[in-house]
Amino acid sequence: MKHKERGWAEPLKVEGMADDHTHILSIPSFAEQEGAQPLSAEEIWKKSREAGVEKVMEVACEEKYFEEAAEFAEENEGVFYALAIHPIEALAYGGREGYLRAFEKMKSVISAHPKKLAAIGESGMDFFHADLSSLPFQKQALLDHIALANDLDLPLQIHDHGAHREVFCALKEGGAKKVVFHSFSGGADFARAVCQEGWYLSFSGMVTFKNAKEVQEAFMAAPRDKILSETDAPSLTPSPYRGRVNAPWMLGWTLRFMGDLLHLPASEIAKITRENAQAAYEAWR
Ligand SMILES: [Zn+2]
Repeated sequence: MKHKERGWAEPLKVEGMADDHTHILSIPSFAEQEGAQPLSAEEIWKKSREAGVEKVMEVACEEKYFEEAAEFAEENEGVFYALAIHPIEALAYGGREGYLRAFEKMKSVISAHPKKLAAIGESGMDFFHADLSSLPFQKQALLDHIALANDLDLPLQIHDHGAHREVFCALKEGGAKKVVFHSFSGGADFARAVCQEGWYLSFSGMVTFKNAKEVQEAFMAAPRDKILSETDAPSLTPSPYRGRVNAPWMLGWTLRFMGDLLHLPASEIAKITRENAQAAYEAWR
């Protein structure tokens, strides 16, 4: 029945996985909307660990999740966290004043919970959900996040939706040091340009999509020591379960697809991406 196909999908167990970008705290309400059996954030993390996920980065890029994400990381082994104001969220404040107030709140959560903070993110630019007239505002918000990441000596996770050139130029202009492009969506040439800077590419379930040939080419062109793996749950569920509810325990499907592209077993891709994540995020060592 169609109804059943909207719920959770089966994990693919692979030992030693690292999911460097997910939103576990957003999964329970999303799952409820999709008619999936209710699970708490803790239960989702437990099931993910059973499927072989060793470490996860809980990304809170909306103000309402800042405190909760920091506490969730503190209370759960293997969970680390990242904070930022998502570029589309930044626009929702309707001006610099409201946005800056939220930015200050973010900094206060960070100083109260330093232990498991592993990155700043996701920040960046999005010209898919917003039009080009918002470029100056989005760019300034990205520059603010670059400065904060540099100050704290943390990697910055980038959201780039239809904004490759603009994001790349802003990163150079702001003097960004450690950078991870989350759910990388560019082609092979852009992948090479990003890696040339010493930055990382994190690949989500998007790489498994039939219409994502460019992203697959980027993955194959990327230096092996620059690739990371993520779910971006609850969205971007990998094939063959596209459209179902995503969770960190689905990462194995993406790793298996990546392995097929490089003629390597999923366990080997898990090892490569886990070791790269340890190199990228000091807190993960
Ligand atoms: Zn995300």
